[in-house]
Amino acid sequence: MNIDYSSIKERFSFDCLLNVSAKEFTSYRIGGQIELLAYPETEDEFKSFIRYCHSEKLPINILGRATNVLISDKGVCGIVVSTDKLKKIEMSNKAFSVGAGVLWDDFVLLTVNEGLSGLEKTSGIPGSVGGAVFMNAGAFGQEVFDRIEGLKVMDLSGKVSFLKKEDIKYFYRKVEGLENLIILSAVFLLEESDKKELLKIRKDILSQREEKQPLDYPSAGSVFKRPKDDYASRLIDSCGLKGLRIGGAEVSIKHAGFIINKGNATAEDVFELMNKIKAEVKKKTQITLELEQILMGEWEK
Ligand SMILES: Cc1cc2nc3c(=O)[nH]c(=O)nc-3n(C[C@H](O)[C@H](O)[C@H](O)COP(=O)(O)OP(=O)(O)OC[C@H]3O[C@@H](n4cnc5c(N)ncnc54)[C@H](O)[C@@H]3O)c2cc1C
Repeated sequence: MNIDYSSIKERFSFDCLLNVSAKEFTSYRIGGQIELLAYPETEDEFKSFIRYCHSEKLPINILGRATNVLISDKGVCGIVVSTDKLKKIEMSNKAFSVGAGVLWDDFVLLTVNEGLSGLEKTSGIPGSVGGAVFMNAGAFGQEVFDRIEGLKVMDLSGKVSFLKKEDIKYFYRKVEGLENLIILSAVFLLEESDKKELLKIRKDILSQREEKQPLDYPSAGSVFKRPKDDYASRLIDSCGLKGLRIGGAEVSIKHAGFIINKGNATAEDVFELMNKIKAEVKKKTQITLELEQILMGEWEK
């Protein structure tokens, strides 16, 4: 498909960046070129951009902060649209409407500072509110959907609607039915609590993250989902895979659930290492690990 990206860029007043390397903005610091990376700043700008792409039959991909994705070395075909600029937060008593581009941890800090509980244990999860909702991100026994009331979404023709929580099927790190929707904002409901206690929990969780996770190296967090009644990191460690390396990608010695980029890792290095871990764990424990991270772009089967 021959797309004239320069003319798309000229059509819109918000930032549309041409030929951006995924190394510049993904938490893995890996990946090929994005031909056009668009940053609409308001819901109206989103609507006109998405409607234009729809009418021109241009393929689009959605990204938040790219902290849970591995983008192929070949890049991503078509347009990537980021929700980064949707930063509006409205608060009414214990309810919040939060734009998809707000950083998840900024929102959590806000709730904690208001003395509202329900999300404090998710402190320190990187990425955006939209990404956290899409993934049903979570940690230490709390997850995003515990506190969701509903989502404002746009479909790929630009139509906006509101989904109530009871109409959404969500699971551990998976939400059904959001694949072809853009989450614009989410409504959360929290509970009154003791601010001092919440700040203490947050501090404790942030230091546990610092202590246990390889935060000095680029990564995209846990590579695999937690298997039933176990931990992927425990299984990987028990198979002796800590420190295993392919090219510049390494199974973290600090936390076996993470693959880290030790310098010049390619997406192919990470992908091969993912497959190697899966195969070794299956061979030694008969357990099939399921990928948590999202592969974007073109991949070999
Ligand atoms: C050091 C580290 C620690 C981490 N710890 C945790 C943890 O404790 N728990 C946890 O759950 N995760 C963790 N993660 C993974 C990641 O941070 C979360 O999954 C996060 O919620 C992803 O948000 P994002 O904005 O970066 O999403 P992205 O990586 O940008 O996108 C992830 C997926 O969501 C989709 N998406 C993003 N925004 C939207 C939107 N507005 N509308 C529709 N689709 C959208 C994308 O298309 C993609 O499929 C960690 C990552 C790192 C690097």
